[in-house]
Order: sequence, then C-alpha cells, then structure tokens
Amino acid sequence: MKIVILGSSGSVPTKDRNLPSIALCLSGEIILFDCGEGTQRQLMKYNLNPSKISKIFLSHLHLDHCLGVYGILETMNLINKDKKVVLFGPLGTKKMFQKYTNADIHEVNSKKIILKEKNYSFSSFKLKHNIPMCLGFVFKENNKIKFYENKAKAKGIIGPLFKEIEKKSKIKINNKLINLSDISYELKGKKIVYVSDTLPLKSTINNSKQADLLIHDSTYLSSLTAEAAKNYHSTAKQAAQIAKTAGVKQLLLFHISQRHKESKDLEYEARKIFKNSNCARDGMIVEI
Ligand SMILES: [Zn+2]
Ligand SMILES: [Zn+2]
Repeated sequence: MKIVILGSSGSVPTKDRNLPSIALCLSGEIILFDCGEGTQRQLMKYNLNPSKISKIFLSHLHLDHCLGVYGILETMNLINKDKKVVLFGPLGTKKMFQKYTNADIHEVNSKKIILKEKNYSFSSFKLKHNIPMCLGFVFKENNKIKFYENKAKAKGIIGPLFKEIEKKSKIKINNKLINLSDISYELKGKKIVYVSDTLPLKSTINNSKQADLLIHDSTYLSSLTAEAAKNYHSTAKQAAQIAKTAGVKQLLLFHISQRHKESKDLEYEARKIFKNSNCARDGMIVEI
C-alpha cells in the first residue's frame, strides 16, 4: 500500500511544502486525507491521476485543509460529469460544497465506523483544535486469507476450489474433509491513523493502538510547546510520545510550521522518544 505526501506544511505554505494533503493509493482508487489549496497540481507533479480520486476525508473546515476540494470538483466535473466524489467532513461540509452535484457529502459526528467497503473500513474520532469540530480518521484494511500453495495443492485444492473453500471454510474432496485453516493463514490488514491539527490526546492513543502508520500533527518543535498549546497543535515530541504509547509501527510528523525549515530537527526530537519517526516531505512515498 502506497501513501504519497502531497502537502506537508502547516497553515502557511512554503516553497518546499504545499498545504496539507495526503494520498492513500489503493487498487484503482485514490483517497485523500485533507485537500489544501493546490492539491490538484501536487497530484500531477507526483504522477497521480486526479480522476482516480474516489473519496476525500476532511479533518476540519479551516481553509488550509479544504480549499483544494473546489478545484478538484470543478475539474472532475469537466472530465466526467457522471463521476461522484464521496466527501466526508464535519458539520458544515454540506453547506460549504452544496453547489457541487458531483460531490456525495457525508457529515460525520461520531467515532463509529463511517464507511465500510469490501476490502476496508474508515472510522473517525474527535480531535481538540480551535474550531468546534476537528476529526481524526482511522483506515483499517480487512484481514486477508493467504494460502500455503503447496499444502493446498497437495490436498487437491486447485482453480475455483480456492474461492470455494475461502467462502465455505471447509470442503470435501474425494470424501476427505479439508479445513481452510489447514491450508491457509490470516494476514492482518493494515491500519493507518490520520491526526491533523490537535492538542495531544488520550483518545488518539486509544485509536492508534498497533497502527502500521500514525500521521500526526507536529507543527512545532518542543521549544515552542507553549505556542503549540495556545494554537491547539502538537509538537514533534508530543507526537512521538503518542506513537510510543500506542505501539505503532511508524510515525510520520506532519503539518510542519513554516518556522521550522529543517525536517531533520523535528526528526531528531521525535526519534529520541520513538525511533521510527520520519518527517513528511512533499512528494515523499511511504510504503506499508
Ligand atoms: Zn492546519
Ligand atoms: Zn486548523
């Protein structure tokens, strides 16, 4: 699974960092987490086809996180009038994009599962930012059945029988009962947690347990902790503490203030607490 960083800045872009947006590339579709101004061109710059965007998840309605939606909906309308983009966001999202008939808008106000697809699901939880509603999102891929090919073939499982045993969990071949668990194992689905614009929260730890990737607000270095608290943001150090406590596999420091020019300063601070920390850079690809 590939994640492409389209914009890694905080609320002000820099010459190296565009406004916040992250693309999750799945087979045949692209899902965006937030969509700052200029996201369309960032997609093209990093060789992603904007017409493959199926869903956009907006954390909150500060313009630095959602202004790019207008451009994308306009372009999609020109390319293919019949294609709809599913848009998830807080209360107010419908009003903001009401003129677009090619947007299927869902306002989110809970921590339950907000979307269930064949291969994955999304849930949301509340963050604490200087706006009434800001949301974190959890992407969870379904577990997959993987066959031990040789074992399966030795028991006579060939061609369409793979699908059949996966569906029925046991089948009979030549009067011999074969259990799915004898010839396969379950591969755990990937979990990605997207947390932008928030104070550090216990609920983020609870929602990020054992995640493969945590993307977390790291607007400031810890020398600006008071500033972070005042502006309802987090420091790289606080993000690392959350990653460590939640037992995630890797942390991506995200939403970087224009005051911090060097990614390595944020990485240095975070890695002292949580080793597998990297600072997001525009165009960066994370494979999980
Ligand atoms: Zn922001
Ligand atoms: Zn904000």
